[in-house]
Amino acid sequence: MKLLLATNNAHKAQEIREILSGSFSDIMTMREAGIELEVEENGTTFRENALKKAVETLAFAGDRFDAVLADDSGLCVDALDGAPGVYSARFSGEGHNDAANNAKLIALLRDVPDDKRTARFCCCVALARTGMDPIAVQGEVEGTILHAARGENGFGYDPFFYYAPFGKSFAELSAEEKNAVSHRRRALNLLREALDVENRSHI
Ligand code: IMP
Repeated sequence: MKLLLATNNAHKAQEIREILSGSFSDIMTMREAGIELEVEENGTTFRENALKKAVETLAFAGDRFDAVLADDSGLCVDALDGAPGVYSARFSGEGHNDAANNAKLIALLRDVPDDKRTARFCCCVALARTGMDPIAVQGEVEGTILHAARGENGFGYDPFFYYAPFGKSFAELSAEEKNAVSHRRRALNLLREALDVENRSHI
């Protein structure tokens, strides 16, 4: 079974290979496969965006691959009614970047007390397959939003995302520590479980 990853992010690709190598003989990123395709992420949920990306990429590359895996992720803050959500990457508008996104987040939460600063990172992974129904599963990790940045690692909203079980922000964790508990890891584990269940029911 040949799997195409609808990403060029090397870290994501490595994590996906570690978790799904038992289910697929060959796993390639878009760049490795020499495929260039931009799918517009205009859905209103992580699930919609991930499924759209997976299904449209499979329609484009399905003659060479049996399946396409896509993901969509972001931060959902309770005090902001779930924002920035699917708009996490472009939260601060035109010319967006991590610093501007974080500055906007912290300004919006300035007067929100500690016990109301709950949030979660969400990740939906979708698997589109030739001749079979797609699978989409969502992983989440709960935290709270700090008043000031902590740590230098990671990316995006990590310096402001406090993870109580470790007593650290995500940006204070090593890549291994974060990957072990991340929303992406949880979604990929759920996908692997769903594939295992399917395989068992076919035996
Ligand atoms: P994407 O799904 O990889 O495109 O991520 C969308 C956006 O969500 C990123 O640009 C970040 O702003 C945010 N995000 C997703 N996952 C993480 C994470 O693990 N740490 C920090 N920010 C994240």
